[in-house]
Amino acid sequence: MHFAHLPAGYITSKLFVKKFEKRKVTAKTFIQWGMFGAIAPDLDFIYYVVDHSKHDHHQFYTHFPFVWMVLFFLSLFALLLDFNRGRTMAFAFIFTFNGLIHTLLDTIAGYVLIFAPFADINKPFTLAHYFPWDEGFLELFVILWALYLWKKDKILGVFSKIGSSLNMIE
Ligand SMILES: [Zn+2]
Repeated sequence: MHFAHLPAGYITSKLFVKKFEKRKVTAKTFIQWGMFGAIAPDLDFIYYVVDHSKHDHHQFYTHFPFVWMVLFFLSLFALLLDFNRGRTMAFAFIFTFNGLIHTLLDTIAGYVLIFAPFADINKPFTLAHYFPWDEGFLELFVILWALYLWKKDKILGVFSKIGSSLNMIE
C-alpha cells in the first residue's frame, strides 16, 4: 500500500469523530491525529535511511500488527477508564486504531510479519493471494471513498441540483 494510507486514516477518523463529540474534540485535530496514526508505521523509513539497513522496512517493529494491537487495546482501555472525558484519550484511540489499520492494509497489499515478535521473523505473511482485488484497485477505492467523505456535501448538493432541475423539465 503506497498512497491510500492517509486517505484511509481520513475515512476512519471521519467515521469516528462524531462518537467523540461529548469530549469536545475539534474534528480537525481529531482527524489530524488519525491521519498521523495512519502513516506512523511508515516512520521506520527514517531508521531505514539513518541505519542504511538492508532490511525490508516491513521488518521493523513499527510494522508489527501485534505492536499496534497492544497499543490500540491499551488506548481503548484508557479511553474506557477516562471518566473525565478528556480529549487526549480520544486522540490516542484514533492514532493507535489507524496505526493498526495501516498494518492490516499492508498485509493485504504486501508481506507483513503478522506474528512477530513471536513467530519466525523470516516468514512474512500476506493476504494478497486471498484478496479478489489488485492492490491498485484497493488503493483507488480507498482514495475515492475518502474524496467522497471529504466533499460529500458538495457532491450531494450537485446531485440534488441535477434532481431538482430534472423535475423542472418534467
Ligand atoms: Zn506501511
